[in-house]
Amino acid sequence: MSPSLHSKLPGVGTNIFTVMSALAAEHKAINLAQGFPDFPCDPDLITRAEAAMRAGHNQYAPMPGLLRLREAIARQVSEAYGAAFDPISEITVSTGATEGLLSTLQALVHPGDEVIVFEPAYDAYIPLIRLAGGTPVAIPLSFPNYRIPWDQVATALSPRTRAILINSPHNPAGSMIDSADIQELVSLSEKHPFMVIADEVYEFITFDGHQHLSICGVEALRNRSVVLSSFGKTLHTTGWKVGYALAAPELSAEIRKVHQFSVFATSTPFQHAIASYIEDRSDEVWNLKHFYQAKRDLFLSLMEGSRFEPLPAAGAYFQLMRYGRISDLSDTEFSLWLTRTQGVACIPVSVFYAEGRDEGVVRFCFAKENATLEAAALRLKSL
Ligand code: PMP
Ligand code: GLN
Repeated sequence: MSPSLHSKLPGVGTNIFTVMSALAAEHKAINLAQGFPDFPCDPDLITRAEAAMRAGHNQYAPMPGLLRLREAIARQVSEAYGAAFDPISEITVSTGATEGLLSTLQALVHPGDEVIVFEPAYDAYIPLIRLAGGTPVAIPLSFPNYRIPWDQVATALSPRTRAILINSPHNPAGSMIDSADIQELVSLSEKHPFMVIADEVYEFITFDGHQHLSICGVEALRNRSVVLSSFGKTLHTTGWKVGYALAAPELSAEIRKVHQFSVFATSTPFQHAIASYIEDRSDEVWNLKHFYQAKRDLFLSLMEGSRFEPLPAAGAYFQLMRYGRISDLSDTEFSLWLTRTQGVACIPVSVFYAEGRDEGVVRFCFAKENATLEAAALRLKSL
């Protein structure tokens, strides 16, 4: 008898970032689709990674992460958000924020549990909730400002709600939660026992004076929250896959139970490199906002006079654009057309909605060399 292939994720194909990057390569298009920098990380980081390897740091790291790195993270979180997290029991180094999310959801979500997510939702959320046996409850953010509709959250809460997943600064929209959002969350938490999973990988990329409010600084949510971040975004090293999860000891212990049997530990030399780098450069390393604000402003100024219409964004390294003045294609067809025939790859925002809601908006990543942005804008402005 042959085994039947009973998919755990029916309907899930290869993720959009892989598809669009492959299409961009095939058509030699400028890749503003997948979110990663096309400029190098600081060479000093590479020197430190090499030094760590040469010094023999090539075997398993401690399961929860190198203590030195966890201590450096604790100092940063304390300085930035006034929050004390114990490196021993409350900080876990993960293999990117993706593994942090996977371990968190596997650890906390039981079959039948509901998890509230906001759409557009980063592509990993819903499949990871389903893999944990949970039921995603998707609530659309308002359009075009991408704010959380709290009245709908209150209605969606049920005795089965296990967690609310918040992403701020938001991918793909660039919106950010503010103190009113936090108040709403806190007040709901007084009546409902949900956990909060906060994906804050773009925490240092904010614009126009917008202040990132981290869930880890909210005392009232301290014991029910998991905050995820990633050095991939902060140090321009998405390929190193080093992130972390901050959570109270009981939650961290559960997350580590999954982490230890999914990856066991995260790459040792990269943890050494990052720890020594941020120890020596703690003054500058978190200060990314001017660098990315300049890129965002450059991209917007290059696009002035184009028929694309930018939507407002407060953070993250993406710019959403309406294209209705250029085409009435669906956003997916438009993105394919743009990549294949106009030589610029982007991401259709409908892929971030389970039901494929199409607002006629595409996402461009501006974490790119200025020359890349200039070349792309030249092509986009001709449309
Ligand atoms: N969450 C969001 C919102 C992201 O945009 C990304 C990656 N770009 C991740 C999580 C995954 O982070 P990592 O690359 O560290 O796994
Ligand atoms: N997070 C990145 C983006 O939104 C891509 C990550 C990935 O390719 N999985 O484009």
